[in-house]
Order: sequence, then C-alpha cells, then structure tokens
Amino acid sequence: MFPQLVIPHTLAAGPGPGNTDPRVLERFAAAGVADHMQEDVVRGMREAKLMLREVFGTKNVYTYAVCGTGWSGLDCAFAPILSGDKVVTFVNGTFSGIDDLNIRMKASSNEDLAANPLDPKPANVITIKVPHGESVTGDIVEAALAEHKPMWAFMAHWETGSGRINDIQGFNDACARHDAMGIVDAVSSLGISVFDIDDYPAITTWASCPQKGILGLPLTYAPVSFNDRVIDLVKQRGCPTYVHHPLLDARHWGVENGQDVEAAAYHRTHSGYAVASFHEALRLLLQHGRAQKAADYEFFEKGLRNAIESMGCTVTSDMPSLLVFDLPAEFEGKEKELVGGCRANGFAIWNTLSDPPQIRVGILNQLTTAALSDIVGRFADAMIGIGARVDKDKIMQDLQDHLASR
Ligand SMILES: *Cc1c(COP(=O)(O)O)cnc(C)c1O
Repeated sequence: MFPQLVIPHTLAAGPGPGNTDPRVLERFAAAGVADHMQEDVVRGMREAKLMLREVFGTKNVYTYAVCGTGWSGLDCAFAPILSGDKVVTFVNGTFSGIDDLNIRMKASSNEDLAANPLDPKPANVITIKVPHGESVTGDIVEAALAEHKPMWAFMAHWETGSGRINDIQGFNDACARHDAMGIVDAVSSLGISVFDIDDYPAITTWASCPQKGILGLPLTYAPVSFNDRVIDLVKQRGCPTYVHHPLLDARHWGVENGQDVEAAAYHRTHSGYAVASFHEALRLLLQHGRAQKAADYEFFEKGLRNAIESMGCTVTSDMPSLLVFDLPAEFEGKEKELVGGCRANGFAIWNTLSDPPQIRVGILNQLTTAALSDIVGRFADAMIGIGARVDKDKIMQDLQDHLASR
C-alpha cells in the first residue's frame, strides 16, 4: 500500500496556477454529498452562470464553464471549427502555439491528419508567427486577414509564455472589416484585467481557465462565452463532439434554445464540491470588484518590476500578473539552475517553456504586502545564491516604500 499522498504548500509565484483562496477551499470541503441534479447544485450552476456574465461583461446567454482546465474550455471554443474551414492564427509564444495546434487538428482533413497525426499542417490554416517577446498588433492582424480572408481568426489575449498583451481592439476591428469570426484565448486575462467582451462584437468566442484570474483550482471549471453568431452556426452545421459541444454542454447550466431556463438537463455528472468552490471563487472576484482587482495587479506588478530591475534583470513582458525577464548577461544560461533551486525550496517560479530561456515570476492572488515581500526576498536570495551582487536591504526598503505609497 502506498502511504497517503501529502502535497506540501508552496509559494505559487509563477504564471499559474495561482494560490487558491482559503474561502474557496473551505466551500469545497464543506459541501455535502449531493448529486448533479440536486436543486442547490443546479441553483449554484445557474448562479455561477449569471456571475460569469458579469465577469466577462456580456449578455451572451451561452456563457458558462466547461469541466476541466483551460484547454478544456479552449477545446469547446474551437469545437465549431470544422474540417476544411479556413483559419488564420496568430502565435507569439508557447500557449498560442498550442492553441494553433488544436485548431490545425480540428481544421484538418483525414488526409492531413494521417500525413502528420500529432502535428498536422492543413493548407487551410495559416499560422502567423510573431517573435517571442513581441505583441500581436492590430496592423499584423489587419494585413493577414486582408490577404487571406479567413472564416475564423484566432489570437491569445495575454500570451503567458512570453508575458505579452496582444491587441484585442485591433483584432476585433480587423475581424469586423474582413467578416472573420474571432476566437480569443483569455486564459490569462479574465479576472485580472477589466474588459467587457460585448465591446468586441466581431470576437464571437472567448475561453478562459480555472487557475489564473478566477483562482478556483480545485473545481476545475473553464469559463467560456459564445455569441449568437457562432451559436447559430453550430445550430446549422453541428460539430463532432458531445462533451465539449457549445450547445449541449450549456444545457446543464440552464440554457436551452438560446434562453435561460430553471431546469437543468443532464449533460454529465457535475460535482457539488466543484460547483460550491467555483461559485465561491466567482463571489470573491465580484466582491473584490473587477476594476479594483485590475488596479491592484497593476500596482503590485510595478513593485515587483522595480525590484527585479534593481537586481539587474531585463523585463520583456507587459502583463500585470506576470513578469518575464532575462538574467543579467553574466548569468545567461543559469536560468534553469536558478529556477530549479527556487522550486526545490518551495518557491514555485518558472522558466520559459519554449526558447529563449527566460524567467517567469507571477503574483496571482499574492496581492498583499507580506506576499509580495516574500516573493521579492526569496528571489533576491536566489540571485545572491548564484553569485549576483544584489543590495537586498535597499531593494526590500524600496519595495516597502512603493507598497506604502497607496
Ligand atoms: C495557462 C494557459 C493555458 C492552459 O491552461 P490549462 O489550465 O493548463 O489547461 C492556455 N492558454 C493560455 C494563454 C494560458 O496562459
């Protein structure tokens, strides 16, 4: 018999998952045993659906959450793409690269899949690569859509691999001009930045995740939102999936025939524990307030950025929840060693998953003076550990001054 599994508490200071709030864990543990059609479980799902509309800033009826991780929500978001559809994707890092792969798999013919089963290259998907560390701009999107005139266009809102914010306004406007249906991976931005998806009507589909801005890891539910245009398309053409079907999955959340209904229809066995914790994560976000939370991230990111730059590192990201940076030139090549040492001590930062090697330190749900000081102090120690000359006392004092300046 294996001994009971014990997982230690670490300081989750990477791109995600973020530190789950005790209130979310408490709701998870306090839920009773109840099946997926029990009235409070179903009511919790209906309420979560309404809260998600507020989180997304939308009137889209087809707004709910898909069981699983961010990729589950994205799989549902890409499900309406059928074999042979023309798609233009914009890739500027690890995660938009994986999105692009999923889209190529869906848009492939059987022959395309057979030719390269794990990495198909259908001619009808055009991948526009933007270098790591740079953002996708409206001009890049405009030029590609003008040239290729696709049915669909895809972009990540915030590319977590490189920590770059892409231009959703430019993406929306180019989609509108060229009559493309936009799909956005908002995994890293939802619940951190404040935006209303209804302000971007040419973006028909949005998908996010449970573990970054929403901060409800145990659940796990990936928020999605579809507007009427894409829902009408799926009604006409269908899509070859049961689990991640945009219309069928919505039934359990009380959405049928484009309308909210009281009664849920069984789609799969949702867990009452999961529903209770997800519901609490959404309540927490809305109690904090979308705008206040966004402002808090920006303020705390500035403190961390100043500290990291004072250690001689060069920051190349512009996301308020995550810093991506190069070590000082003389320590180039030591990224993995530094990150490995931190992780072995329960300080869970990350390196980049694709080239170039960089370091990623994030502040998901670490929006307190104590938490940010802990992150900066531990990173300063790690830098000193690899031989960097770092004036830790001064850096900690500057951080205190910044955090007290509110
Ligand atoms: C984290 C992330 C994902 C994947 O989310 P999982 O929860 O690991 O499935 C996808 N896209 C972006 C932009 C991400 O940051």
